[in-house]
Amino acid sequence: MSKNILVVAGDGIGPEIVAEAIKVIDVLQAEGAIDVTLQHALVGGAAYDAFGDPLPEATLNAAKAADAVLLGAVGGPKWEPLPIAKRPEKGLLGLRAGLGLFANLRPAILYPQLADASTLKPEIVAGLDLMIVRELTGDIYFGQPRGIETLPSGERRGINTMVYTESEVERICRVAFEIAMKRDKRVCSVDKANVLECTELWREVAIKTAADYPDITLMHMYVDNAAMQLVRAPKQFDVMVTGNIFGDILSDCASMLTGSIGMLPSASLNASGQGMYEPIHGSAPDIAGRGIANPLATILSVAMMLRHSLNAPDAAARIEAAVVRVLDQGLRTADILSAGMRQVGTVEMGDAVVAALNAGVN
Ligand code: NAD
Repeated sequence: MSKNILVVAGDGIGPEIVAEAIKVIDVLQAEGAIDVTLQHALVGGAAYDAFGDPLPEATLNAAKAADAVLLGAVGGPKWEPLPIAKRPEKGLLGLRAGLGLFANLRPAILYPQLADASTLKPEIVAGLDLMIVRELTGDIYFGQPRGIETLPSGERRGINTMVYTESEVERICRVAFEIAMKRDKRVCSVDKANVLECTELWREVAIKTAADYPDITLMHMYVDNAAMQLVRAPKQFDVMVTGNIFGDILSDCASMLTGSIGMLPSASLNASGQGMYEPIHGSAPDIAGRGIANPLATILSVAMMLRHSLNAPDAAARIEAAVVRVLDQGLRTADILSAGMRQVGTVEMGDAVVAALNAGVN
């Protein structure tokens, strides 16, 4: 049965990079490797311009009805003067909340061809293949009480509350264990159990949940050490699972290991496996409209979509192989350009991936 994909291209370079991802979907569809129907909707600044709302109800409803959502990026200086509730980013957060996307998957893969692009020494990062699983709807970002209050003395006090229930921890650990079962079966749970009771509970639940996955090797690491280990010896990790705030910081740290923000896809999943797939970068207003944005993170987001929401792992692997092939050919967008490589624009890079996919078939 045909699966529904809602495409929300967004702002800035969003429409440019999403157009290349759609070419890849079209090739697989034409071959019969996947059976999908694409719908389009507005989100972010584009939606505000059209409807005065960064997340129109029609977009949210279409997202809820879809099997998966493919997002470009939102935001830009044009909309910065707007009140927070009307800003493009509110549309993105509304989609995440509205779909209940509690599991954020951020792979950090360093293609050997791009080892020179990392700020770390090639021998530290070459071959890096790490998956960070971050809890996305709980923790200190949502815990109550929160706010800024004025004490009787007149001094102000800021408050946020770190909170996790056992079921929230269990479900994100299960996501991490399931993913690790298809990889090297090693999971590192990151916490601060030595000082924070909330994460002491996190560790207990992780251990208890792991009992259902006897093939998984579970280890635990305090978040401060994990940050250090990520830049010291990142290849020691297979899958990392952690809470919202630790995951926010560690996943940005891990993305830098790979050198280019233009290469990294992400997935955010809910309890029924429905997901939203997007590159980790933003709308890059500084290069929007110039045809130089790297579309590979968005194309690789399609691969994640096929694997995690559309049950088409073979097609996903073919997209990833096509990206490797294009890198092997020496084609580079400006953000990943190095000496001796051939610089290409957004469209040419998309066309090269399509050609590599077609070459793989023949
Ligand atoms: P950004 O990720 O858009 O850009 C950071 C730098 O990386 C820029 O120099 C940009 O040119 C470059 N870059 C990003 N993606 C690229 C690509 N595919 N190819 C080549 N170069 C690329 O971050 P920013 O500049 O801090 O934010 C710009 C806007 O994007 C803001 O409005 C911000 O709120 C928004 N934003 C949106 C998302 C999202 O939609 N998920 C995420 C982050 C930022």
